[in-house]
Order: sequence, then structure tokens, then C-alpha cells
Amino acid sequence: VAKSDKQNRFHVYSPTMDETLRLRHTISLELDRALSENQLKLVYQPLVCARTGKVMSAEALMRWPGKEGQAGSPGIFIPIAEETGLISRLGEWALDQAMLEIKRQRTIPIAVNVSPIQFRVDGFADSVEAALERHGVDPSLLHIEITEGVLISHTDEAQRTMKRLRDMGVLVMLDDFGTGYSSLSYLQQFEFDGLKIDRAFIQQLEFGPTGRQLLKSIIALGHSLNMKVVAEGVETEDQAAILQLLSCDFLQGYALGRPDAADKLHSVTRPSELLGSTLRTAGWGRA
Ligand code: C2E
Ligand code: MG
Ligand code: MG
Ligand code: MG
Repeated sequence: VAKSDKQNRFHVYSPTMDETLRLRHTISLELDRALSENQLKLVYQPLVCARTGKVMSAEALMRWPGKEGQAGSPGIFIPIAEETGLISRLGEWALDQAMLEIKRQRTIPIAVNVSPIQFRVDGFADSVEAALERHGVDPSLLHIEITEGVLISHTDEAQRTMKRLRDMGVLVMLDDFGTGYSSLSYLQQFEFDGLKIDRAFIQQLEFGPTGRQLLKSIIALGHSLNMKVVAEGVETEDQAAILQLLSCDFLQGYALGRPDAADKLHSVTRPSELLGSTLRTAGWGRA
């Protein structure tokens, strides 16, 4: 209720801190219930070889069916779950579901996004190892995507966790590359198997030669550090063609396939005649 008192005057039209917190709390409770009632699901988006268009892996993305509005998007509810601590259970659930899917397919690796908070929890590597054993899943079929946020603090712990995962045979990808802070220093401290270039850079391709030069440099950087390079958010055939010319290894984006139910993964259509040539398919194997 709007009061005429001066102190509240400027808060009438925007939610106060209290209201925002309350809203986030409510969303978290609903999300908790959705998780308990088995309402959440994972959809899968293909990553294709940039040379042949073959589906080489898939990224698992969380969905909250039935939740209307913005809060139903993981870009909103994941950060809320991180604030309230629910992310640990959500993360475990996602890992477990992804492993069930790997067991069903046993063909391509599945990538799971792991929140910095989950990654930093003591025993994260142990829980991944236990889950792999419980499900009898080949570790090389599991990819883990983390963002630079993981690495900003607790560097030693993060380094140890990464080493353990990689020693098990799990592949670790740096997600959203180029959007965080001091990306380059992290590349020196951590050995990633792959670099996922944020879609902001792919969109720059439309705006002249600078964007293209920048991408070329990022791809060369990734390769020089023994990483596979993935372009995220590829929306047009032109972008796919340019990325192929720039020797990007894998492409992901609406042009190659939208996130969808797992059984749709292999019916992905090739984006253009450029792809699907007789060139050798890029693999995930370590050099
Ligand atoms: P992300 O890991 O960088 O995932 C890529 C996002 O880009 C996904 O959004 C995907 O649907 C979207 N995308 C893919 N291709 C295109 C394209 O061509 N154009 C555009 N505009 N977007 C594209 P989504 O599914 O909304 O997920 C958003 C973010 O939420 C993810 O970003 C990830 O950080 C987080 N997230 C999603 N699922 C999980 C999960 O299971 N666990 C955790 N910790 N985070 C998750
Ligand atoms: Mg990701
Ligand atoms: Mg990303
Ligand atoms: Mg992201």
C-alpha cells in the first residue's frame, strides 16, 4: 500500500528488498516441491561436429514444466536455487537423470551443467565417482560444464576437484567463455578439455570483420592449449559456415537443433550442404 510518508515515496513502484526476497523464497519453495514431486525434466541439445554435422554429444538443460513466466526459465530459477541452497539437490538430481540417459543411449556423451556452489562442495568429485559406479557408466560419456565463477575463489579446491574428475576420465568444459573475469589467467591454472565460446561472440559475427578476427583468435587459443572448441548459440547457417572455416570443432545452437526430448537427439537435420562433407569427424578424445 502506497503511503504518503516521504520515506516510502520512492519504493512505491518497485519491489522492496523484502518483497524481492520473499518472491525468491516462494519460488525456491515451489521449485523444491516440483523436485520432490518429480515435475522437473531435462531436455537435450545436440553439439555437432562442425565439419560433418554429426551429433557428437548433447547438453542437458533443466526445465520446469508448468511454471509460468520468467521464473520457469533456468536462467532465473538456477540462481535462486543457488542462493537458497536448493542447488545441491537439484544438481544431484540432474547428474542422476543424465546418467540414466547415458545408460539408455550409450553412444554419445552427455554434458551436465554444474553450479559453482555444487562444484565447490567438499566431496563433489566423490559423489560423481559414486554415481558413475552406481550406474555403471563409462566416465568418458560424462562431460561437466562449469563457468568461470567456479574458479574465482577457492582456487586450490577447484583445481583438486578438476584434477580428480579428469583423472577419472570425465571431460570438463569451460562454459560461457569470454563473459567472465580474467578468463585467460584461468586457462593457465586449469586444464580444461573444452572451451565453449559464449554466444555473445557468435552474434558478433554479423557485425563485420572484427568479430570474426576475435573468434579466430579464441579458437586458435583453445587449440594451442589442447582444448576442443565449441561455439554456443549458433543460430544461422552463415554463422555455422564461418565457424567451420575458422576451424571450430563443435557447433551448438538453434541452427543445429533446439533443446528437446532425448529421443529427438538423433533426428537433427544438418544446417547446410557445407556440413556433411567427407571430412573427418572431430572427436572428443584427449590429445
Ligand atoms: P548454458 O549452460 O550456457 O546453456 C546454453 C543456453 O543457451 C541454454 O539456455 C540454451 O537453451 C540456450 N541456447 C542454445 N542454443 C541457443 C541459440 O541458438 N540461441 C539462443 N538465444 N540461445 C540458445 P537455458 O536452457 O535457458 O539455460 C540457461 C542457463 O541455465 C544455462 O546456460 C546454464 O547456465 C543454466 N542451467 C540450465 N540447466 C542447468 C542445470 O541442470 N544445472 C545448472 N547448474 N545450471 C543449468
Ligand atoms: Mg552449459
Ligand atoms: Mg553456455
Ligand atoms: Mg550460461
